[in-house]
This record gives sequence, C-alpha cells and structure tokens, in this order.
Amino acid sequence: MAHSYDEEEPSMERHIHYNKRGELQMVGQKSLFDLDEPVWHADEKSPVCDKCSAAFTFTHRRHHCRRCGEVVCADCMDKVPLVRMRYVDHVVVCKVCIPLCKTEDEFFQNHLKTLTTGAYFHLSDSDDAAAEYLCKLSTDHRQILISQDHLPIAMRHILEVKTLHGEEARLATGAGGEGEVDGGSRKKRSGSNPKNISLELTYKSGGLEHKL
Ligand SMILES: [Zn+2]
Ligand SMILES: [Zn+2]
Repeated sequence: MAHSYDEEEPSMERHIHYNKRGELQMVGQKSLFDLDEPVWHADEKSPVCDKCSAAFTFTHRRHHCRRCGEVVCADCMDKVPLVRMRYVDHVVVCKVCIPLCKTEDEFFQNHLKTLTTGAYFHLSDSDDAAAEYLCKLSTDHRQILISQDHLPIAMRHILEVKTLHGEEARLATGAGGEGEVDGGSRKKRSGSNPKNISLELTYKSGGLEHKL
C-alpha cells in the first residue's frame, strides 16, 4: 500500500510558561514526539546519589534528573537542553541521560524539519547500496513513512539520522563509482542526489511497523 504524503501539517500552537519549579516550559498542543515527565524519586528515599552512591549532605546536595527522575549529586549531572520535555532552557540531567538528550537534541535541531518536509535517505537495512528512499515524518510524529512499499519505522526505533557533508558525502555519493558498497564500509553511492549531501537513517532491527 502506498503512503500518502499530502497529510495536513500538525498544529504547532504552543506558548511558554513557568512551571512550579520556575523553569520555562512550552505548553499547549502536545506533539506525540514529546516525552511525559518521569516520576521523581523521593528525596527521603535517596540518602545517596543514585549514580555514584555518594552520601548527600548540606553541601553535597540532591538534584533530580529531569529526564529519568533519579536523584543524583552535582558530580553526576549537568545542565543540557531537553527539548522532548519542552524545556526552554538547559535543565538538570544525569550523566546517563545526557548522551541520549544530545542525540535527540541534534535530531530535533537538524533533522525534524528535513523529515517533516520529506527527503531521500539511505536506510540502514537496505540491501541495495545505491537505493535511497523518500522518508517523511507522519502527521502524528509517531512514524517515519517510507516510499517504495517499505514498512514505516516507529520513531522510537530510530537510532541515528545522519547528514554527510563534503568529503564524506562525496565518498557516499561515489563520484564516478558504480554504486558498489565501498570496501564493506557503510559508504554508499547515491545516483539521484544532486547535491553534495547524503542522508543516512539508522534504526533498530525489528523497528518496522505493521502496515495499517
Ligand atoms: Zn537521568
Ligand atoms: Zn553522584
């Protein structure tokens, strides 16, 4: 079944307010891309840091990871963007959640727009090294819809969306090549991409959704 790409754009009507902790947060129309806030671990049940087990004192204070809700010490957290929970400013995130937030933030900053519009990507599971698929975010932001009868991929299974520029893209687009996989590496040739840019989408195996 072919997927239609002329769905209406989701409403992005939102506004900003201070939450009860005095942090700026977006409210309003909720995107299904957004994460729900975790249940915070109670202070009284956390005498030590959930990550490094250092005891909390008056000077070694508790911080709550906004992403997972665990209680951590200053050494085990940093302030980073957390766009999926609609924070405007950087917020406390534990060291385990930081890489996750960074990957997601990059995705939102760089690739959300591309996917909303639709663009040609190499897919991590593609047998055909030269093949590119038109990928587009579904209206509800839950899935990536893919052309050529490929099954949609659930957003939660997307591991990486990568833009290759310059030399990397030149190799990937294999100037003068015949579309062969380059020495077993993941570099692929694109015959249809006119620009010196190549896009790659990597997802968990088993991440395909059943067709609706
Ligand atoms: Zn965390
Ligand atoms: Zn700690």
